[in-house]
Amino acid sequence: MACFRSVFSTRFPQSHRLFLHLASPLPRAPAHTTAAATPQPLFFIRQINMQAQNVAARLSSSGFLHAQGLVGGKWTDAYDGKTIEVRNPATGEVIANVPCMGRNETNDAITSAYDAFNSWKKLTAADRSKRLRKWYDLLMAHKEELGQLITLEQGKPLKEAIGEVGYGAGFIEFSAEEAKRVYGDIIPSPLPDRRLFVLKQPVGVVGAITPWNFPLAMITRKVGPALACGCTVVIKPSELTPLTALAAAELSLQAGIPPGVVNVVMGNASEIGEALLSSPKVRKITFTGSTAVGKKLMAGSAGTVKKVSLELGGNAPCIVFDDADLEVALKGTLATKFRNSGQTCVCANRILVQEGIYDKFADALSTAVQNMKVGNGFGEDVVQGPLINEAAVQKVESLIKDAISKGAKVILGGKRHSLGMTFYEPTVISDVKNEMLISREEVFGPVAPLLKFKTEEEAIHMANDTNAGLAAYLFTTNVQRSWRVSEALEYGIVGVNEGIISTEVAPFGGVKQSGVGREGSKYGMDEYLEIKYVCLGNLS
Ligand code: NAP
Repeated sequence: MACFRSVFSTRFPQSHRLFLHLASPLPRAPAHTTAAATPQPLFFIRQINMQAQNVAARLSSSGFLHAQGLVGGKWTDAYDGKTIEVRNPATGEVIANVPCMGRNETNDAITSAYDAFNSWKKLTAADRSKRLRKWYDLLMAHKEELGQLITLEQGKPLKEAIGEVGYGAGFIEFSAEEAKRVYGDIIPSPLPDRRLFVLKQPVGVVGAITPWNFPLAMITRKVGPALACGCTVVIKPSELTPLTALAAAELSLQAGIPPGVVNVVMGNASEIGEALLSSPKVRKITFTGSTAVGKKLMAGSAGTVKKVSLELGGNAPCIVFDDADLEVALKGTLATKFRNSGQTCVCANRILVQEGIYDKFADALSTAVQNMKVGNGFGEDVVQGPLINEAAVQKVESLIKDAISKGAKVILGGKRHSLGMTFYEPTVISDVKNEMLISREEVFGPVAPLLKFKTEEEAIHMANDTNAGLAAYLFTTNVQRSWRVSEALEYGIVGVNEGIISTEVAPFGGVKQSGVGREGSKYGMDEYLEIKYVCLGNLS
């Protein structure tokens, strides 16, 4: 991350700092919307550029776009004027310059959240619920624009991006409902003159650090329950996708959520993280991102003994048994493997296929993958967008290279897409072994590695042979097997004959090094609550 002093922050009003660069005549590389390997004619390049400009104009006129942080209800630049560029991963174009904030801005955001906590926690649950419900309504009313913004800064196909808005907003709606159900308890007293009560109270100020792969949903999944319980938040979105977070924060203000309850800072990740960790005012860190950063945050939270929730990396096995319904297995595998171009923590990372169905499944999967349209997320029928950046493509390349050097075979793809930029060909590789790097690390790209197994025991052993434990999938028509294997898998989430498992009403989270805590559902509320035991004595 490189911060630099922005000329735009001082010379132009805020709306000009957004999308200023979209007026440039040509994107840096072709960004057409087809899987064909032919060079792209110029008019297609112009068409995409026009499309991006139209999107930019529509978004700007919608009035909820910001390219500044939010501290205590005020849109704020970095105190030293430094900014970072936000780029469209499909074209490389700069779409905005946002403030490169650090320790000082974060400390002010913490103070704002701390002050706001005193009044926010005292509102009735019904009042907080109404405001959250209003926020949900606004997010849904702007789902098209928010979807466009997600596609612009993150790259996923527009349909998928709009789907993320519905999914992400769902956490706010669910939290609005659950706000009214934060029940305490009365415990039968062992002594006649006492009454024992359990109160549930908000934890306090929450530091919420989120990744780029779901620019909206990873935020609402944390902020919804936090606010419902009476906590206030300092959000740090990824520097790669801050615009969706800022738009959502603006809508929270419009919904009547008071200034200071929701704050957003972005920029120097380690400085912001350090400020959140070291402040005794911050009582909870909730993080979604890589296991490496999660471990640092967990260790850093020890200094002030904060409550911690971590949603970290996965290494999901997807087990296809001989007795699976091939069509169901294929549909489920495609959904879990290729959503967001393979860039989700619950994407199938290893596809374990039983020997009797292996060849048939490999053929069917390759045919289906070959038909996937790759391109700019705004293109019609595009289902595979770009990867987030060059580093992501290089990681995929190195994992494929290692696998091939150890005996894996490329059935389809296996290289960068002719569209250039960070587009990678949807790929299927066979003869993969559990020892290869591609089976040990998160691929986070559109690559389906096929591993062969003989018995159910072998499949369970292979599936569990990893430090990760987030999501796992199995495909079988045998009911006994579906229970047996679900119970044996060391994972927080298991999809049986289903590849899409995330919903706001169910608990999401991992075991082992995939994290601690759960998000979504009634269980997700507990992460933002402290239990207080009150003993009333001498009543007789
Ligand atoms: P990442 O590099 O760990 O970044 C996540 C967030 O942490 C970003 O906002 C990043 O800021 C910030 N960060 C980085 N270093 C930090 C530090 N020293 N202190 C404080 N914050 C710091 O992960 P990513 O590449 O964005 O996301 C991909 C990872 O997220 C994958 O491993 C994926 O599996 C995981 N993920 C997990 C779940 C889940 O629910 N389990 C869901 C989605 C994604 P900058 O971006 O500004 O540097």
